[in-house]
Amino acid sequence: MIKGIKGVKDLLPEETPRWRLIEEAARRWADRYGFHEIRIPIFEVTTLFARSIGASTDIVEKEMYTFQDRDGTSLTLRPEGTAGTVRAYIEHNRAAVPVPQKYFYFGPMFRHERPQAGRLRQFHQFGVESFGIADPRADVEVIALLWRFLNDLGLQGLTLEINNLGCPADRDVYRPRLVTYLQQHEPHLCTNCQRRVETNPLRVLDCKVPECRIITEKAPRLADSLSETPRTYFAGVLRGLDLIHIPYSLNHRLVRGLDYYNLTTFEVTATNLGAQNAVGAGGRYDGLVDTLSGPPTPAVGFAVGFERIAMLLPESVLHASPVQVIVYVAAFGDEGSIAGLSVLEKLRASGIAAVSDFRASTLKAHLRQADRLGCGFTVILGDDEVHTGTVILRNMVTKGQSDLPLSSLSVAIQPLLTTS
Ligand code: ATP
Ligand code: MG
Repeated sequence: MIKGIKGVKDLLPEETPRWRLIEEAARRWADRYGFHEIRIPIFEVTTLFARSIGASTDIVEKEMYTFQDRDGTSLTLRPEGTAGTVRAYIEHNRAAVPVPQKYFYFGPMFRHERPQAGRLRQFHQFGVESFGIADPRADVEVIALLWRFLNDLGLQGLTLEINNLGCPADRDVYRPRLVTYLQQHEPHLCTNCQRRVETNPLRVLDCKVPECRIITEKAPRLADSLSETPRTYFAGVLRGLDLIHIPYSLNHRLVRGLDYYNLTTFEVTATNLGAQNAVGAGGRYDGLVDTLSGPPTPAVGFAVGFERIAMLLPESVLHASPVQVIVYVAAFGDEGSIAGLSVLEKLRASGIAAVSDFRASTLKAHLRQADRLGCGFTVILGDDEVHTGTVILRNMVTKGQSDLPLSSLSVAIQPLLTTS
């Protein structure tokens, strides 16, 4: 037997309604905030990710699925959606379009990580990117979209954490101060962080290892190295969130794994997710378009993980969604069977979901399958019914039956299709 790849999951039909619900909510909220869908490729040239995400990040250091194309070009399966979206923005000269460029995307992402609950090698994200607006209201809008979407799905125990990363110059001031402090405590840091002190010291701040957390609790804070402009900007973001009643907590250790963030950075965590407690995260990345040789363009966005949302989705939300009535066609006998085929087609053509199990040859077998398939109604059609031109409609819940004309079935059935 050939098995699927470790950390790459199948979503069986029992699970897909959950995913559809999440997708529909995501689209609904993206629409309301004026974001438009973009579909970007699953793979790109490796340098796109190396240059945008940053060489000394977990993703680029050890998590990318990279392979050689037949001509030797190095390609990579996308580990996130921002890099591809920015590449498309630049390539199609979207900076020249005179209205705000606000995009959203869905789809699989690929990272070579150790698979565990809520951490996969192929996982799925919903993300948004808002280009061209250097205004705290754009940050507020993106955060609000994320927050409203997650709350609309009924997720419990969510916390929005937010921090100000300042501008690159602020971090240049801060970094040596942090490094000096970390070097004093280096023997007590985890081996990963001992290396990060040299390569990416800010990342030590959000290491999850308890020993590292104890040390970083007392570390100098980036907030104390920030210049006036970023402070004012961030105050504007917080004021906006207060105004529209989005609760947040300040987390001075939130630095995020990717290099391209500045100013606002945020993360939504959930109390009941265990170790992988981040549902989604994002922030402002004003330097990225420029880094990828595009025109200087301020931008802000987020990405959320579908798998983690699906784990948090309450059953009540799933069952509250309206179920489509499905009609089962129980057709048997020589003439009945063939007439059943055209009944199925006519029902479907008039917008009604209709199914049958062609293996069943008796009425009893058909009715059992109709129940198993959760069909609200069954159309009963044997040779006799073909001759009289009348079929029987059976309500599978009340067991009530009525006669309907075969010739105009799909019209006659419409007003009767309510489950009671
Ligand atoms: P984590 O702290 O979980 O490693 P991250 O900082 O690497 O997250 P981002 O790159 O910000 O994550 O991705 C945004 C969201 O995508 C995460 O909050 C999470 O919900 C989801 N996500 C990231 N990596 C995975 C993965 N390997 N499997 C499942 N979901 C993931
Ligand atoms: Mg990660």
